[in-house]
Amino acid sequence: MTRKTRLPLFAAGLVLTGALLATSCSPRRAEPARPRNVIFILVDTLRADHLGAYGYARDTSPNVDAFARGSVFFRDARSQAACTFPSVNSILTSRAPAAFLGQPGQAMGIPEQVPSLAEILRQRGYRTVAVSASAVVRNTPSQHNPGGGYGRGFEVFLEDCIWKAAACVNRQALGNLNRDAPGENPGDDRPLFLYIHYIDPHGPYNPPKDYQLRFAKGQPEKAFIRNGNPNPIGDMLYKGGPDPGVTPADLQHLRDLYDDEIAYLDGQLLRLFRLLEEGGWLDDSIVVFAADHGEEFLEHGHIKHCRTVFDNEVKVPLFLRIPGVAARAVEHPVQNLDIVPTLLDYLGVPAAGLTLEGESLRPLIESGKAGDPYQYSLAGPYRSVADGRFKLIQNLGGDGFWLFDLKRDPGETKDVLAAERRTFHRLRDALGGWLARTEGQGTADESLRKAKEAEEKLRSLGYLE
Ligand SMILES: [Zn+2]
Repeated sequence: MTRKTRLPLFAAGLVLTGALLATSCSPRRAEPARPRNVIFILVDTLRADHLGAYGYARDTSPNVDAFARGSVFFRDARSQAACTFPSVNSILTSRAPAAFLGQPGQAMGIPEQVPSLAEILRQRGYRTVAVSASAVVRNTPSQHNPGGGYGRGFEVFLEDCIWKAAACVNRQALGNLNRDAPGENPGDDRPLFLYIHYIDPHGPYNPPKDYQLRFAKGQPEKAFIRNGNPNPIGDMLYKGGPDPGVTPADLQHLRDLYDDEIAYLDGQLLRLFRLLEEGGWLDDSIVVFAADHGEEFLEHGHIKHCRTVFDNEVKVPLFLRIPGVAARAVEHPVQNLDIVPTLLDYLGVPAAGLTLEGESLRPLIESGKAGDPYQYSLAGPYRSVADGRFKLIQNLGGDGFWLFDLKRDPGETKDVLAAERRTFHRLRDALGGWLARTEGQGTADESLRKAKEAEEKLRSLGYLE
């Protein structure tokens, strides 16, 4: 990765020279203070194209959109996996998801030998707090993650809001943003890393009872559709269950409820955004807004997530609010793996000795200097690489490759592999390199076995139908 490092003495010389120049030649221009806190907002199951900021026709997210307009906004970001585990592991460690498959006992957490952002920052004296509504991203066991394992490095890990709505998460999270009494210790002036994991858009799509639905209208005949439960569709697809006879209108009702979940969350996020502004946090904190994966509504023959690497499942929102950095939109493709290196760069935390597979986006943000354009993703037997224009998907399980022209065909419906041989070869080489680096040379069989085991584990825990 690219990092800006200076020797301390040299840096002191630069400051001195800069000060002399400032007094003799030009008015002093204050360097923005380096951010000291990180507020990390992770929204589970939020596909980018259902947010206004990413061009959705529906007004699902006015508050998120407004916050995005004041941020460094990445138009083209992808997650490294289509499932909470191992996508969140990759986000918090900047390691490719394959590193987390095939752990002893099919554990899901972050293994001890891989430092996470929480551990890195805690070692630097941060107060590290997580509030998670996810049944997977937990410190202690749950039905969906019997091993826990995400809590290392967090001084406080609040997980009582499991499966609960954003109001519950806010009740536990927002108190940490009280400047006068941070946490339980009023005298605590350590920098803060606050990780907030919301679960609202995750199925079943049932916004809180007292929430006025905006998009889902009427009362569909089928109870599971009325209740926003996509599982009977999954039972048919993956378990040989009966055909529930879902109509296009039923499917649209599920989408409407998903959008209502986003709109509800958006209203709740306004409370957080206001607190960040009114409490002065935007002056000395980097705020990250990210998602672990998207959601599918049968666009490619699947339901929910953890299934494929089509964009419904891996194209995610990503924006960063950085003190002293003007809001802008970035077109160059980036990945969730880049979040941790970027944070460390801006916080001035040395990355020496850490293995980070993403790269700092600071050169891209500040001078348009683009790094590697490739974005890699994984789900079950599928692997993909995208470059901002094209996307190549490989099925390690046997039936080869598909190539899509995302500019002309964002829905990934038309395979252009035969017509775009050169692009195919370039992307195939890039993907092959990534597989070799992260999963080992010539280990398609091993990767498949691990993917299969991970899938079996998720299924046995009821996370996959
Ligand atoms: Zn998730």
